[in-house]
Amino acid sequence: MSEFARYSRQIVLRELGVNGQQLLADSTVLVIGLGGLGSIAASYLAGAGIGRLLLSDRDRVDTSNLQRQVLYRQSDVGRLKTEAAAAQLRALNAAVAIEALDAEAGLAAIAQADVVLDCTDNFVARYAINAACAKHRRVLVSGAAIRFEGQLALFDLSRGGPCYHCLYPDHGAQAETCEEAGILGPVVGTVGALQALLALKWLLGLRDDAGRLQVWDARQLQWQRFTMSADPECPVCGA
Ligand SMILES: [Zn+2]
Repeated sequence: MSEFARYSRQIVLRELGVNGQQLLADSTVLVIGLGGLGSIAASYLAGAGIGRLLLSDRDRVDTSNLQRQVLYRQSDVGRLKTEAAAAQLRALNAAVAIEALDAEAGLAAIAQADVVLDCTDNFVARYAINAACAKHRRVLVSGAAIRFEGQLALFDLSRGGPCYHCLYPDHGAQAETCEEAGILGPVVGTVGALQALLALKWLLGLRDDAGRLQVWDARQLQWQRFTMSADPECPVCGA
């Protein structure tokens, strides 16, 4: 299959073109967390022809994941998510260099990524990813979904704050989990798709999402947008 035919529907976009396709092919994107967010985000990134896609997760596929984590088949239950996801994505697009990493290697790989997608589901991981992105001055696209609520934010830590810690300074907070509170597949899938969109836009030079927090009410289908500001006292990104 010719590369042009594969990507023709996006190359035709005025904002993309052959040059934009080359930018994507020259890019490295790291997806941390291969659940409901990461399943969708990684699929769109591989489909779009990101040159190098790094996938990180510590978990194995569980039966309760199949309702929303669309990268996995029933036959994947019990398999490492990174391995199952890498196999699916290689089958989708063999031109993408896909690397499966455990959680520790995922954090270490932040230094190599042009854009990092936080698709995890807990504060401990989110704070660690944010701190590493601040340290290495990376671009972080953060997504979250629970019940009928979604959240999306892009932090350009190549230029300092705001960062995820500015937004959620309370380390002691216990995040609710989807196991307790519930989630519908399309709610988390929508946020995952938008994380991929923000990453692609960033790589293509369409960069007006930085510093914005988008909050989605999936019952009313309404978005709210907030401008985030850096906390000068922030221990992660503050001076
Ligand atoms: Zn901060």
